[in-house]
Amino acid sequence: MRLAMAFCVLLTQPAGAADDALWETSGQKLRIARGRLVSLVDKSRNVELVAGPTDRLRSVFRVILNNGFAKAQEVDASAMELRASERKDGELRLAFESKDLRVVMGVGSEGSDLTWRMDATPLNPALAVAEVQFPVLHLRAPLGREGAGDRVVFPRNEGLLIHDPLAAVPAQSWRRRVHNYPADMVAQFVGYFCGRSGCLLWTDDTAGHVKGFGFDRRPGEPGLPLLIQHRMPLEPGKTWRMPYRARISFFAGNWQAGAEIYRAWAAQQFWCKTPLRNRRDVPPLLHAPCLVIHSELRRERFDTLPDILAAYAKRFNAPVIYRPVGWEKHGAWIGGDYFPPFPNEEAFRQLVAALRERGIHVACFLSGRFWTRRAERASPATNEALKRFIEEQDGNRFAEWGPNGRPWTRKFEQREMIRLCAGTPLGRNFLFDASQRLLDLGVTAVHEDQDLGPEPSGYTCYNPAHGHPIPCGSWAAQTMLDCLTRIKLAGQARTPDFILTKEEDTELMNMVLMGYQTRYFVRLKGDWAGRAAEIVPVTQYLYHEYLPTIYGFAGPHWQEVARSMVMGQIPSLPFWGKAVALVEQLPASTVALLEDYYAAMKCYAKPFLLYGRMTTVPPMNVPTVRRRVEGRSLEGRVIGLELDDPLVVTSSWRDEAGNLGVFGVNLTTAAVSVRGIVPQAADNLVGLSQYVGADTVGVRQAPPGSAFVWTLPPRRLCGLVFQRGR
Ligand SMILES: [Zn+2]
Repeated sequence: MRLAMAFCVLLTQPAGAADDALWETSGQKLRIARGRLVSLVDKSRNVELVAGPTDRLRSVFRVILNNGFAKAQEVDASAMELRASERKDGELRLAFESKDLRVVMGVGSEGSDLTWRMDATPLNPALAVAEVQFPVLHLRAPLGREGAGDRVVFPRNEGLLIHDPLAAVPAQSWRRRVHNYPADMVAQFVGYFCGRSGCLLWTDDTAGHVKGFGFDRRPGEPGLPLLIQHRMPLEPGKTWRMPYRARISFFAGNWQAGAEIYRAWAAQQFWCKTPLRNRRDVPPLLHAPCLVIHSELRRERFDTLPDILAAYAKRFNAPVIYRPVGWEKHGAWIGGDYFPPFPNEEAFRQLVAALRERGIHVACFLSGRFWTRRAERASPATNEALKRFIEEQDGNRFAEWGPNGRPWTRKFEQREMIRLCAGTPLGRNFLFDASQRLLDLGVTAVHEDQDLGPEPSGYTCYNPAHGHPIPCGSWAAQTMLDCLTRIKLAGQARTPDFILTKEEDTELMNMVLMGYQTRYFVRLKGDWAGRAAEIVPVTQYLYHEYLPTIYGFAGPHWQEVARSMVMGQIPSLPFWGKAVALVEQLPASTVALLEDYYAAMKCYAKPFLLYGRMTTVPPMNVPTVRRRVEGRSLEGRVIGLELDDPLVVTSSWRDEAGNLGVFGVNLTTAAVSVRGIVPQAADNLVGLSQYVGADTVGVRQAPPGSAFVWTLPPRRLCGLVFQRGR
């Protein structure tokens, strides 16, 4: 023992001793021995999160070294020699060395987080650091007394909650779920928790470096190794210095508690610069908010459509965005050979003009940088045309390549696609050019579909002729940010109504985009090994306050409309494969809910459902039924999950002034009364107003800690507002 400070105790011992190092603060304690994290204690909850025989635990890091594009070796900390263990500059610093690699890792504390950084240097000049797994937290599993209450949360798309990660897959099979950032995760974390303990593993990167988050358990292994896979450009002989820190925060109970930790940090970053309520770059249409209607353009009568849509605007007293599915030359979601649009340029332009005359805006989707090479449902002539388009544009040359030196392809929804590399001139300009052509046709809303985020993910792009770092780093995120910024500025220069949106979201894009597409109304998502994961509104929780959620494809079934509006999305009605129905033909429950929503938004709900910061719903005894909720995976397989399914869908939001708005739709056919307790004094909430639609149905004093009863008639949008005292 060399040093003991008020909060930090450190042991340094000669290499080869049982302990490499110990780090302790008032809230955390960890121990590294023989290159493994053998103990991680959340002192405030008095919980040990890592437990197991030392020799069966993973190393605290693993480095993959490449020779060229091929993996040359994997080096684990436990197989390296500990050269130094010392306390320096407020951190614990460990130096490891093997024949071909030197690693210096640092552990420190910031507030209640543990922070991790690393330098990795290949000692053989032919080798390059290709991937670093660090830190690897080989967590005890199940974390709770039994696995049924364990959850893993990912900010993937709208948010993915995996129930009981140890269940359903035989112990002898591989359990692996790693999601990439910024490709398909809105934010940079993974959390594993149960009712009384858990931790969030995250990074504080502000540049969009490529990395994966998740768990990776080998057959027969104990516990659940949680890890971050850092991916970088291949630079032989050069040190990889982690350009951000990895962090561990402890939390427990629900996913919101983990997201809260991340949100506190994210709110300080450039992508949360301006709350939506103050965003003047977002046009009034989205602040209204509007109603979105989708239909199959090939089923529409162009002469009657404008009046049919105008009737919706009138009925709900809301501006309408019309999204024609299949506007593209070859049909829905077939890019990049888009133009002329269906049925021809002149007819399309006239339709858009007729709609604009009635105040209806038209939104067209672009398939990101995906180019369809072949579509199963298309005719031989179409497939020939798609092939020719790619040849004419020299698409294969500008496409993302895999390490095998061929264009990377994706097969999805019976289409085979290549993707333009964002690091090439064609890749940089293609989306911009397509958006300009849409604006030429009178379209005012451009949506980038299918691309979930800035690739690469590590599979691409290996084309040395493109001139970008290979394969990873932050170049793809920066290129995407530049591309979207250019599209936005050019669009705004042409019309103040211009809207740029994107499928799903990547936090870096928050301030450039005017909206993002999520799908919270779907309950389940097919996850790995045939299992279902629950979809939870993580994205809304983190970023609803900054960016509207649109094109959520709710309904027209009323339950989907209900979920979507309660979760703070701008309503969207899709008529898949059909023409738009007359507004009089909508189901009565859907009409009632939409009427409630638009009236409530004009009256009291907008500071919450459009501009609010999501919070956990105050404790209320909402009745639930234990049942198997079913859905379909992307491949069409039926998936299911046993859930305590609430009979009232609820959400809760804070407005700018600190008032709390709670919203609910009763999904049953009879009135439901729920009881709750007015949130505690720290909130200084005093008055309570109750609403059904836009009607006030009660106003009363509400001393914190007192009980309240909330009665919800069926299939109506109901609200409670707890006013903050002055
Ligand atoms: Zn490339």
